[in-house]
Amino acid sequence: MSDPQTLSQLFALDSLLDTEEIAIRDTVRRFAEERIRPHIAEWFEAAVLPVRELAEGLGELGVLGMHLEGYGCAGMSATTYGLACLELEAVDSGIRSLVSVQGSLAMYAIHHYGSEDQRQEWLPRMAAGKAIGCFGLTEPDFGSNPGGMRTNAKRDGDDWVLNGTKMWITNGSVADVAVVWARADDGVRGFVIPTATPGFSAPEIKNKMSLRASVTSELVLEDVRLPASAMLPGAKGLSGPLGCLNEARFGIIFGSMGAARDCLETAISYAQDRQVFDKSLAAYQITQVKIADMAVEVGKGHLLAYHLGRLKDRGDVRPEQVSTGKLNNVREAIAIARECRTILGANGITLEYPVIRHANNLESVLTYEGTSEVHQLVIGKALTGEEAFR
Ligand SMILES: Cc1cc2nc3c(=O)[nH]c(=O)nc-3n(C[C@H](O)[C@H](O)[C@H](O)COP(=O)(O)OP(=O)(O)OC[C@H]3O[C@@H](n4cnc5c(N)ncnc54)[C@H](O)[C@@H]3O)c2cc1C
Repeated sequence: MSDPQTLSQLFALDSLLDTEEIAIRDTVRRFAEERIRPHIAEWFEAAVLPVRELAEGLGELGVLGMHLEGYGCAGMSATTYGLACLELEAVDSGIRSLVSVQGSLAMYAIHHYGSEDQRQEWLPRMAAGKAIGCFGLTEPDFGSNPGGMRTNAKRDGDDWVLNGTKMWITNGSVADVAVVWARADDGVRGFVIPTATPGFSAPEIKNKMSLRASVTSELVLEDVRLPASAMLPGAKGLSGPLGCLNEARFGIIFGSMGAARDCLETAISYAQDRQVFDKSLAAYQITQVKIADMAVEVGKGHLLAYHLGRLKDRGDVRPEQVSTGKLNNVREAIAIARECRTILGANGITLEYPVIRHANNLESVLTYEGTSEVHQLVIGKALTGEEAFR
């Protein structure tokens, strides 16, 4: 018997990163392992997440809006941000969701499309984890097709008055600020809404079997009156929210590989320890075929993530490339989680091991930030020139 290699060694993954990237990745991994992993199964089972406490820790770590410049943000590369997402999702997709929504959706929208006053007011507190943000695009009847949204914004003198309902909004009930997309006379517009504004409420969605360690809410807007300055001046039309989603999808390309890695490492270690019939489960060819096939996909998924990270850092990544990464890596991650569950046998269905938790979480990850089918249509359009959404 020879000394086993790690997945990272098999693909020489660290040879593709510089020393600063490795150091930051290791710091995030330590934080996730020490501060989150010991509690995560309990939070998942109880369907709770101490968002405020965690956000302050994540803010001190510097991962909230870490790829944004100025306003208290760390100004790191896209690749470094991706590596942080990977390490957080290796513990739980709910934690990466918190960070994605805060940094890539709410903060990115304000940073990219906001006025200087909006940036000054919100970004430093959000980067520090002292203010929580959410992002309201999806509605009960419009998910994959946000262009159909019914939430509307009407002028009343200088004010805006918003009415409508948003659905499946991460961080909604705990947010201090909501970036909400609504139909105005001149098209879809974004609004920065302090959640204490009269007429705004965010009931939590209960009974989820996936992303239980994540707050998911409805947003109800009943005559929410906002000053003219609440609108994001730089976003007009659907390209505004879609630009934010492209940012968050990028983090998922890395993050989903964290969940896959955690499942596979767990399954390998379990197979080495578990005796079936008269030897270790790891010594059977069927187990090794499963492990080898999964390792190949984990390696390929990492390489794709790193490649897209480098393209993004050069300012070259296109939405269809991000769709390719999200489609592949989440699809493979969920297949890996299910296959790993078979290696763990009955133990695989309990929260004692992370595998079923990752598998359940990945059901949401497969659906949000564009479903797999939507990403297939984006890639299909890029390759054929034919739009097949309708
Ligand atoms: C846990 C969780 C957190 C979320 N967080 C947020 C958030 O923070 N903010 C936010 O705005 N949204 C959020 N979402 C919503 C998410 O983005 C939507 O669920 C997603 O866009 C899909 O929309 P839908 O659920 O309405 O499904 P639908 O759009 O109704 O899709 C149902 C099925 O139809 C398929 N389909 C749709 N259109 C086509 C087509 N043209 N051709 C073929 N098949 C098609 C889909 O692929 C899917 O399989 C979250 C969702 C979840 C589960």
